[in-house]
Amino acid sequence: MSRDVYSKPLVYFDNAATTQKPRIVIDAIASYYTLKNANIHRGAHFLANLSTGEFEDVRELISRFIGSVEKEEIIFTSGTTESINLVAQSFGRKFLKRGDEILLSELEHHSNIVPWQMVAEDVGAVIKVIPVTEIGELDLSEIDALLTERTKVLGITHVSNALGTINPIKELVRKAKAVGAYVLVDGAQAVSHMRVDVNDLGCDFYVFSSHKLYGPMGVGVLYGKRSLLEQMPPYKGGGEMIKTVSFSGTTYNDLPYKFEAGTPNVEGVLGLGAAIKFVLELGMENIAIHENDLIQYATSQISAIEGIQFYGTAPKKSAVLSFNVEGLHPYDLGTLLDKQGVAVRTGHHCAQPLMEKYGIPGTVRASFALYNLKSEIDVFIVALEKAVKMLKA
Ligand code: PMP
Repeated sequence: MSRDVYSKPLVYFDNAATTQKPRIVIDAIASYYTLKNANIHRGAHFLANLSTGEFEDVRELISRFIGSVEKEEIIFTSGTTESINLVAQSFGRKFLKRGDEILLSELEHHSNIVPWQMVAEDVGAVIKVIPVTEIGELDLSEIDALLTERTKVLGITHVSNALGTINPIKELVRKAKAVGAYVLVDGAQAVSHMRVDVNDLGCDFYVFSSHKLYGPMGVGVLYGKRSLLEQMPPYKGGGEMIKTVSFSGTTYNDLPYKFEAGTPNVEGVLGLGAAIKFVLELGMENIAIHENDLIQYATSQISAIEGIQFYGTAPKKSAVLSFNVEGLHPYDLGTLLDKQGVAVRTGHHCAQPLMEKYGIPGTVRASFALYNLKSEIDVFIVALEKAVKMLKA
């Protein structure tokens, strides 16, 4: 965090895209390769046993972190995107049939839209969409009409990456369950900001990526209820996911290994374990308080800028500030902020249907994390004022 960019101190406000990594995460990865490197689950030797034990300890830790009943309900994937594709393909092909409905929302990231479109096309299911209000909340006035006995899946984000809106997941799960639908929650933007308890939420699937939770890239989690995971066919074939293989037929392994074909990302899982210990030590409640403070401060400071237009002003929102300045393109603002050392994201944020709804090409998005400071917001505001002045000149 202390490096310069363009000879300016870095202000990193692109945390919704990926967070920076604490030293203990980097050390955990280095320690795996310097002291423990071995392929897991297979070798009857010291290093294999050591790394297998640590790998499985992280599964247990994640199970406690998100409140799953059993650690076998935690499947390691390459990230949120793969977790959703796994559910769409494996659960979708087993449970969806022609005419069934998949309910999504206008807030969804492309990775919670496209996998469902792919399976819907193959099985003849229909996609329905919960609309979003002007302030970026789900329009729940339509929910009773949209959730019917034809709805088989509700795929919903816990927190919007483009607007920060926190969705009322528990209420949505209750409504979905009342019509017999299964619920997948995209937790990519939630797990680093708040305490998540899948058992309390009551959802069937919960997915997230390590890299947005201070952990390394290339690893993520799928939580699924055992009763469903047991019924779902494997998503990928290969080593590790089998019990026996012969040319006359193959039998599959037990959970969670049935869904973990091939050598897993061991360094990634150990790094994710270190990241989870890091946030737990700080306390999820403390993180939420700090980030809430930052978003309140940033919102009040930025409001003074002439022509500012906010996107996503729901009362319940996480540390995302999405905005445009009247008459200016978000990309131009982002470029000028970057040159002053401030990293933000500009564009559609992989939420094109949402941008279409608001009739805009994109927004500037500043997203905060536990290590950000009010003094950095001050730098950001000054940089933004300067960028606006230059572009309007
Ligand atoms: N869902 C949401 C809400 C996200 O913010 C993201 C990442 N921007 C994803 C899904 C996809 O995550 P990943 O690219 O790590 O698979």
